[in-house]
Amino acid sequence: MREAMLVAARRLSPEVRELTIDPGADFRFVAGQWVSFRIPVQGQIAARAYSIASAPRADGPFQIAVTRVEQGLGSGYLHALELPAVLPMTGPEGLFRLEEPQRPILMVATGTGVSPLRSMLLAAESAGRELPPTTLLFGMRTESDLLYREDFERLASKWRAFRYEPTLSRAGEAWSGRRGYAQAHVAELVRALGGDCDVYACGLNEMIKEVRGLLKSELGFARQRIHTERYD
Ligand SMILES: Cc1cc2nc3c(=O)[nH]c(=O)nc-3n(C[C@H](O)[C@H](O)[C@H](O)COP(=O)(O)OP(=O)(O)OC[C@H]3O[C@@H](n4cnc5c(N)ncnc54)[C@H](O)[C@@H]3O)c2cc1C
Repeated sequence: MREAMLVAARRLSPEVRELTIDPGADFRFVAGQWVSFRIPVQGQIAARAYSIASAPRADGPFQIAVTRVEQGLGSGYLHALELPAVLPMTGPEGLFRLEEPQRPILMVATGTGVSPLRSMLLAAESAGRELPPTTLLFGMRTESDLLYREDFERLASKWRAFRYEPTLSRAGEAWSGRRGYAQAHVAELVRALGGDCDVYACGLNEMIKEVRGLLKSELGFARQRIHTERYD
């Protein structure tokens, strides 16, 4: 167990707070991994997992993005926490990592499920390594929910082979991009990548279940091509 410190915080969207955590010395992680905080919940200490949203670095702080869940005890605590604060933490953990890319990549996220994918993309950027053709499909409700939009737009203008495809389920009239749930766009984006790709999906169970079902039964994907991380 580490005594990590909350050293900075900012609001990313109406429902999401980004926390900057200093884990102390000798902390190493691979892009895609998560950490677990011990949080006081109703007089007891409960563990809550959060994916790291920033790229790995030799040492120093990292970021997580926390969705405020209605009636959520852990997320409510992390949204209210004032600086500076000690956060007991374990990790990193998790096997949701970018395999050595051998074919195009489709990334699918909803909500803060975009965090580990951002970490993977920023890790490639800071290593100066361009990925094979890669599409990030990101489903949210409204434009103000589009977390880390400026990072993904920057990468899309820098990397010719990277496409950022946000889709909104409650878009205003002015929105000219994709509409509806992420699941509805998967088949088309798989085809645009040539059909044979690796898929990395992260978010709530419902979305993961639907994307996995679609890939396996309708698009004939082998299970080794589908990498997922579920948040509930
Ligand atoms: C590997 C892993 C990584 C995770 N990474 C992140 C992350 O980067 N950012 C993040 O915000 N969360 C992440 N989570 C979810 C997080 O661990 C908590 O489950 C979440 O913050 C809710 O905890 P809570 O104590 O506030 O809610 P609780 O009091 O435990 O639960 C309240 C209710 O809300 C439901 N619920 C849980 N999560 C959500 C959600 N996101 N949206 C809607 N309903 C929900 C629960 O099923 C429950 O019914 C991750 C989970 C896992 C397993």
